[in-house]
Amino acid sequence: MNAAKPEQLIAEMLARVHAGLPAHEHVPHLRRWLDFNNHRFGPVLRTPLDRAHVAIMDAADHPAKLTHPSRNGGENLTAWWLQRQREVAPRTGIGRYCEDRGIYDHPDEPRDENPRKIHHAIDIFEPAGTEIFAPYPAMVETLGVDTSRHGFGGIVVLRHETDDGVPFWTLYGHLAPGSIAGMKPGQRIAKGDVLGVLAAPAENGDWPPHLHFQLMTHLMGWAVLDIIGISWASQWELWREVCPDPNIILGIEADCAAPVARKPEQLLAERKRHLAPSFSLAYETPLKIVRGAGCHLFDETGRAYLDMVNNVAHVGHSHPRVVKAATQQMRALNTNSRYLHDNLASYIRRLAEILPPELSVIYLVNSGSEANDLALRLAHAHTKARDVVVVDHGYHGHLSSLIDISPYKFDGKGGEGRPGHTWVAEMPDPYRGRLRKGDKDVGPAYADSVSTLVMDMVALGRKPMAFIAEGVQGCGGQIPFPHGYLASAYAHVRREGGLCIADEVQVGFGRVGTHWWAFETQDVVPDIVTMGKPIGAGHPLAAVATKPEIAASFANGMEYFNTFGGNPVSAAIGLAVLDVIRDERLLHNARARGVQLMDGLRLLATRHRVIGDVRGLGLFVGAEFVKDRDTLQPDAAGLKAVIEAMKGAGVLLSSEGPHNNVLKIKPPLVISEADCAHFLSVLDRTLRDLHL
Ligand code: PMP
Repeated sequence: MNAAKPEQLIAEMLARVHAGLPAHEHVPHLRRWLDFNNHRFGPVLRTPLDRAHVAIMDAADHPAKLTHPSRNGGENLTAWWLQRQREVAPRTGIGRYCEDRGIYDHPDEPRDENPRKIHHAIDIFEPAGTEIFAPYPAMVETLGVDTSRHGFGGIVVLRHETDDGVPFWTLYGHLAPGSIAGMKPGQRIAKGDVLGVLAAPAENGDWPPHLHFQLMTHLMGWAVLDIIGISWASQWELWREVCPDPNIILGIEADCAAPVARKPEQLLAERKRHLAPSFSLAYETPLKIVRGAGCHLFDETGRAYLDMVNNVAHVGHSHPRVVKAATQQMRALNTNSRYLHDNLASYIRRLAEILPPELSVIYLVNSGSEANDLALRLAHAHTKARDVVVVDHGYHGHLSSLIDISPYKFDGKGGEGRPGHTWVAEMPDPYRGRLRKGDKDVGPAYADSVSTLVMDMVALGRKPMAFIAEGVQGCGGQIPFPHGYLASAYAHVRREGGLCIADEVQVGFGRVGTHWWAFETQDVVPDIVTMGKPIGAGHPLAAVATKPEIAASFANGMEYFNTFGGNPVSAAIGLAVLDVIRDERLLHNARARGVQLMDGLRLLATRHRVIGDVRGLGLFVGAEFVKDRDTLQPDAAGLKAVIEAMKGAGVLLSSEGPHNNVLKIKPPLVISEADCAHFLSVLDRTLRDLHL
């Protein structure tokens, strides 16, 4: 490979990295060697580079378009760096690896979509005359003087070897030409030898004095003056291996590497290589979302999307009060629940205050799945039974114990069917199910299915451990239960000693508007309530609430230790979420916007026959798409087309239900009246355009 021309090498290496291979054969070995030997490198300059003595000089955030001087005709570039240095003095200014140097908008290169601007070295700004030392034994590979304006000035490239003889190189740019004049290629250099001194602007292409320090795993066949110090973001997968983060050698105690923003197709390729194939992406052409605020998400081009589906960002994306609570507490302390802390004590009290008084005992965990798994353990400890009754099409989490009780999974693609301890009750669907809206006592009649299962269980000499249901069926298709359903189902299960678990992971924390919890709309008090998603507005926090006697059965001597559950940061976030719900009147907003959306959707249903049913509670709404309002034949393809088209129009949605034909609407509770109206009008137009 070494004799090849640079362009050919780049092409070959690009092909390798795109195929998931290292850029060249030595990369994995060098990476490992550097990881385990970086303590052997000496300093490159006398100034200490510890936390107290350095400051990052962020060139990515420089004012607007400060372009190359020859383009905008001034000394701006140099002046800007010098000004920054004055600001950070007396600390040593550091220019970051990977920084997007839009400033290198070079006149010699056409202004294309893909400029070369990712800095793949670290700059250390020190006065002219500062001595530069070799960090490791070396041989001089090559050297030269770049006399061009905004060029490198004096450059030295050292060749080093790992203990087993694999070469790598370090490059030193902006040295005073006179200071390297006596150096020869092939010359041996000892660790700590002076290589040269930093140049003054006049001999340094007009730059403020600094060292450009670059690590290279391959010289790419370049002559010394051809070596590049910045590369193309589109080829980042290659250059991060050819010029890895040189801080492995420098050891500067600061964030010297900026993230490289890559194009969606590059991120997709990275996911394909390293992310497990079971993860999915939304939309035929996935979105790259980089920022969120309120009900809006923003892609990398700054385009805004109205988020109609993220019930996790309960109080809005990146709510400033939630972010502040998290960062403040993170700065002070994060430990575990084995120490006393005000946040934990305040939070469990606040949670207990919004739950039914019977449910006074709280467990704090990290995800809805953990909460439901713990609920099953509590139920088992209390009843000693194993059999669980679930509602058809329900989903309760991704742990093994929960796949076992989630018909949505075990009866879905890749599922292995219903395990012996799981009993599946008929889904009480008053639109498409056996009993319809106008029928008599629809709720209790559907609950008969639960009663039958419990009796079958008893006939086999078994008894129910628990009945688990959401307060509104989520994955089942956004279905509020008919009146009286949960009360009857709970009674059937309790008659035989089973506990009732309300899974409020999707629908809790005031989403239904009229109540804190969806189960309350059914006039029941569960034995165990599980909470997740919205509880932390994006932070991994979840909880279980239960009755003291059930908690007592579980406290059998085995400690419940959850490393992260109940940590001070999570508790601070949980408290902030509850404060925002209160202070921004979000329960009222959930009610009012829910009515607006459902009224609006029902009006659309009078114009668009594809909308067969509109249902929901508060801001948990579903619109079921059918090809025919009499046969109720589902129209999943129509819905998919609508969701894709709405994305094109800047509105994010998704589908749900056993037939995947239910438009799922569950925006953050902060959604405004104007945003709801906008959503309805875009949906109206989309349905019209698609002739649905
Ligand atoms: N219960 C319900 C009703 C859910 O919808 C989910 C997640 N979609 C879970 C539990 C599991 O929560 P998590 O993904 O946080 O583990």
